[in-house]
Amino acid sequence: MKKVIKTLNLFVLLILIAATIGCDSNNESEADQILRAVLADIGPFQPIQLDTKTLASSVQDGESIQLPFVKKENILTRADVQLTLRNLRNADLTEAYIKDEDDQSFEIVPLEEPATYQGMVVDKPGVAVFTINDQVIEGNILMDPEGWSIIEPIDPLLRQHGVNEADRQVVLKKYNHIAYNVRDRLDTNFNTDADILGGLESPLTTTEAGDEQLVMSAVADGDSDFYRLYPPDSVMPFWLKEEALLNVIDWQFNCIEPEQNEHNSYALCDNDFDGGSNGFQARVRIDRLEVWKAGGPKSTEREALLRDSIRMTHQSDPPCCGEPHTAGRSDLVYFFSGRNLEGGTGVAASVGGLSIYDGCFEEGLPICHHALSQFVPNEEFPATVYFQEILVAHEIGHVVGGEEQINPFPNCWLFDEQCGTNLMGSIGFNTQDVVYLFTEEDAQGVMGPLMQERLSAE
Ligand SMILES: [Zn+2]
Repeated sequence: MKKVIKTLNLFVLLILIAATIGCDSNNESEADQILRAVLADIGPFQPIQLDTKTLASSVQDGESIQLPFVKKENILTRADVQLTLRNLRNADLTEAYIKDEDDQSFEIVPLEEPATYQGMVVDKPGVAVFTINDQVIEGNILMDPEGWSIIEPIDPLLRQHGVNEADRQVVLKKYNHIAYNVRDRLDTNFNTDADILGGLESPLTTTEAGDEQLVMSAVADGDSDFYRLYPPDSVMPFWLKEEALLNVIDWQFNCIEPEQNEHNSYALCDNDFDGGSNGFQARVRIDRLEVWKAGGPKSTEREALLRDSIRMTHQSDPPCCGEPHTAGRSDLVYFFSGRNLEGGTGVAASVGGLSIYDGCFEEGLPICHHALSQFVPNEEFPATVYFQEILVAHEIGHVVGGEEQINPFPNCWLFDEQCGTNLMGSIGFNTQDVVYLFTEEDAQGVMGPLMQERLSAE
């Protein structure tokens, strides 16, 4: 109990500090000036210094914690969240791999303890999905009626924007995270249209949902630029970033069911984070976490990069990846790119390529379990955690059978408090607010049956 109170006081103090910055621009510190200049394109946010060590320790002890929550119009408040560890790793997964094609070698990085959590808001309808360790807090709080607020570490943002070392130090001395409400973002022209490389699986006839928990196994890999954005010695090493993004997918695939059950009882799921039912529920299991340090897939054109990544993630050539080699027969392979891609920000190999391995090497239009997206900003893609999450969910939506919606269907969530474009929309991403949902038609009619057919139960 003592620890909880201590955390609370610390946080109140930090809110006061943050609040005074907003009020008096004449006194704006150098850190604030740098931060606001560098991140001018991502919309309003609150810079924050979080006591990550204390918060991580409380979470590990099973205590509820207070985290910053930003309401619409950039109003900083807070939320109490109760988180449960959600270990996504395959029992055999204890290390990550850094591959070097130039050197024809690879390095092994022992993984730290799992730091992926999911849970609920205390005393209010809402959920929380976070990656939390001694150095970093990244994730989402969704709360009725205040909406969707995100916390993310500043260090990767500074790296993404090429901030020099001196300025980095000035900023990081004062702040380690930002928090923002996703509906406060500036208008962007983010478009995912035409992001399918290959074919389309024919519709399924089976719709029967079993009782067992399905498992969607996943491999995460990334290019050498992604490695430089999320280097192993930083607060957000590549493998942690890969896990953090897959944790948000795992949350969606479990909590999207409208009914609470034994598989999603760690969170408050009966709150319109759905569109699902009839079999749309699976757990993500991570089989491998990898990255290229040098060499590897080279293209900056998204389709060519996907073809490169399919080839190089599958085979044991170059010899650097002879053993261990990579994608195997996992249900999904997601490739994280640190490049500003030509042709668009992401691409999936096909619609409905889930668990299909052999089709990856078909001439012409492959049916295949791969997808990729970029993690670096450009004029239309701010690449904050919010945008990274919706783009990854969109591409994985294609892998599990969702087609592009040029005129996307609206969805509502958060107890019908918020409505907007669902995740498979494309044109709509530029003007409307996205909700982190697939449509009921997709979830029940296409994705659920595909998952029932392709995925194995525990
Ligand atoms: Zn698409």
